[in-house]
Amino acid sequence: MPVSLAPRPFQPPGTIPPAQLARDLGVSEEAVALARSAEVVDLHVDTFIPHRLWGYDPLRRHRRALLGRAFFGHLDLPRMADGGLSSAMWSITTNPFRTARGRWRALLANLDRFQKLVARSDGRLEICGDHAAWRAARARGAHAVLLSIQGANALDAAPDGWRSLPDPRVLRATLVHLTSSRLGATSSPAAALRRDRHLTAAGRRLVEQMNDARAFVDLAHIHPVSFDDVLDVHDRTQPLIATHTGVDGVRPHWRNLSDAQLRAIADTGGVIGIIFSTAFLARPGGPRDGAMVVEHMEHVERVAGRDAVALGSDLDGAIVPPPDLWGGECYPRLVQHMLDRGWTEDRIRGALGENFLRAFAELRPGDG
Ligand SMILES: [Zn+2]
Repeated sequence: MPVSLAPRPFQPPGTIPPAQLARDLGVSEEAVALARSAEVVDLHVDTFIPHRLWGYDPLRRHRRALLGRAFFGHLDLPRMADGGLSSAMWSITTNPFRTARGRWRALLANLDRFQKLVARSDGRLEICGDHAAWRAARARGAHAVLLSIQGANALDAAPDGWRSLPDPRVLRATLVHLTSSRLGATSSPAAALRRDRHLTAAGRRLVEQMNDARAFVDLAHIHPVSFDDVLDVHDRTQPLIATHTGVDGVRPHWRNLSDAQLRAIADTGGVIGIIFSTAFLARPGGPRDGAMVVEHMEHVERVAGRDAVALGSDLDGAIVPPPDLWGGECYPRLVQHMLDRGWTEDRIRGALGENFLRAFAELRPGDG
């Protein structure tokens, strides 16, 4: 399905002029212009965590990240507009150590709280449940929020699983997070706590329900054994996704995906979002800056094709990003690394968002 991309009518008031931002970031004006004119879709931002825990306000400009530019405080709307980040999967993460009922209640409360944040944004944030809604939001110049759940065990006590979600616009969920759950096994070292690494019957049911709702089944964080089980049960006509990950082909790590896993996702028409976490990306002798993100993207291209590349920073998700990619204004630096490595404009626009948007239009076209 062809993707019609909305023109950007304006930069929001208060956005730093391009020449000044280029100087501040030490990049070319071309990189700033490209980041701002492309549809940049970040497949995983955790900015709701500091908002919920400490009242961090993502609607106003913050000078710099908390804790010395690490872990939290990476993103706010003004700096996202500076950097050209126009759409993102905003993740709602639930503490796995609550009871099942506590997790479900927390998820409902957080969905409600998120809607209040959107209501307070004066139209600068819009929740988009399908591609038509996304196009409309972008035509209005809004930042498009793609609602996401991290750790689908938040639904364990939901009376009717995925169907119990009060908001049909929820677009994706990672089946597991950093712990194994009633649904399946995590890729983290916590997998050692359980012998059985398979997707459970409840995990299979949830995949089927998500397929019925045409929600993205997100394979970030899942154990390889559970990953293969998802491939068995998933409706192969719908694109799978891994929203925030690195790749073993550059840096072998429990958090990263093998070449076979990359191909399996690409075979469904899905995409792989590369994370900004130095802990998972940096390889011995490799780049120490944002070029490490591009290295992982290039490996995805080689193994799974250009259409499979996306970005999923995990900013504000307690990660330590490369030193030049520590905030919302920094996406032009990622673009500069791509330009420096000889990427064409089409290839850059694809990785920044258009590849994902194709999968989104395929999964949930909407009625536009
Ligand atoms: Zn995560």
